[in-house]
Amino acid sequence: MARIVMKFGGTSMAGTERIRRVAQIVRKQQAAGHEVAVVVSAMAGETDRLVNFCREANALYDPAEYDVVVASGEQVTSGLLALTLQSLGCKARSWLGWQVPVKTIEAHAKARVETIDSPELLESLARGEIAVIPGFQGVSAEGRITTMGRGGSDTSAVAVAAAIKADRCDIYTDVDGVYTTDPRIVAKAKKQKAVTYEEMLELASVGAKVLQTRSVGLAMKEGVRLQVLSSFLGDDAIPADELPGTMIVSDDEMNTLVENGEMERQLVTGIAHDKNEAKIILTRVPDKPGAVAHIFEPLADASINVDMIIQNVGRDKGETDVTFTVPQADLARAQALLEDRSEDIGFNRIITDSKIAKISVVGVGMKSHAGVASSMFRALSDRGINIQAISTSEIKVSVLIDEDETELAVRVLHTAYGLDGEDEAA
Ligand code: ADP
Ligand code: ASP
Ligand code: MG
Repeated sequence: MARIVMKFGGTSMAGTERIRRVAQIVRKQQAAGHEVAVVVSAMAGETDRLVNFCREANALYDPAEYDVVVASGEQVTSGLLALTLQSLGCKARSWLGWQVPVKTIEAHAKARVETIDSPELLESLARGEIAVIPGFQGVSAEGRITTMGRGGSDTSAVAVAAAIKADRCDIYTDVDGVYTTDPRIVAKAKKQKAVTYEEMLELASVGAKVLQTRSVGLAMKEGVRLQVLSSFLGDDAIPADELPGTMIVSDDEMNTLVENGEMERQLVTGIAHDKNEAKIILTRVPDKPGAVAHIFEPLADASINVDMIIQNVGRDKGETDVTFTVPQADLARAQALLEDRSEDIGFNRIITDSKIAKISVVGVGMKSHAGVASSMFRALSDRGINIQAISTSEIKVSVLIDEDETELAVRVLHTAYGLDGEDEAA
């Protein structure tokens, strides 16, 4: 017998028919003799709808009240799944964030889990009851509802799995694993049998939204066995215990898979895109010590994350242009802050552009092989795609391009790195 956390995302929970399908998958897992805790998302589209209500109610909304509103989507689906499980003859109950309790830091809308200490939950599981826990939500030390950032149910699931020492955390979604790139963009994307934590962390952080970045970091830190698999399966599907999805594994496990011939060692594991950033160019900034600090300090103070930065070659009169990217959602705030400081910084003009995309290639093979970046630049230039900025890490190369060229760039790179599969993905 194992203890398993099963997480179902928004599309899997979208409506009572789909929830019935989920309940059947859960029942099957319990019937295989396991203790089961289920973490659920709100129905697809529901969280967006709730966010819009908050914006309409008050453009400068209080994040604490925002959390009260947006957490409600998961309350509905957790209750509905418990009811559906009961209708199938299972013992099941919902455990809201404050009831578990999932204690988080106070940071509303971007809370992090601090502790989940719930002997009652463990006792309930031991009695054979299925625990249904709404993802995304927790409770602060002050007793107020918090939420964990968009896509946060993945992190809730991993946090619950770590807390109850689950043998596995299965993330059920609308694709049957982690692919070489988003299968909705490249039909020839290939499903990966396994991906290392490090690669998955990097892929998630550059836009592969199949797992929330923080969930992967937490799983890596806590040693949670994480698997991505599809909830859109027929009754004859291979059971989750036989690992039909993508397993997130340690480097050692990956080496063993390669040695046993179960995986090929790849230079590039995946390609991701992100359309949620915006570019800012400050022209004619003084080319002297301290100038860049003047630009980025106010942004850091306002918790605005700057991603790519390029400082262009200095001009004649000791001036330079500085280009960088920020999340699109923070663009207006960043622009206002910089305009406020225009005298201190001393720039001439501020130019912004939201129609950009970041394309990234990720793979641990880059640590030991040169040439990944140059192949990327060549492949893009052969198709006339202009690169506006570049950034690299040990296992990643990212470029900034025109948003309209996103799909083309992803396809071109997928082919260039030899990732195209024989069969088209579903
Ligand atoms: P859920 O609602 O289940 O949390 P998400 O929409 O958050 O699902 O994540 C699943 C989606 O992630 C897929 O539908 C797919 O379009 C997208 N995706 C992006 N990159 C990848 C990738 N490399 N492999 C698989 N899916 C990916
Ligand atoms: N419902 C939340 C969202 O849409 C959390 C999640 O689904 O993971 O962001
Ligand atoms: Mg998700």
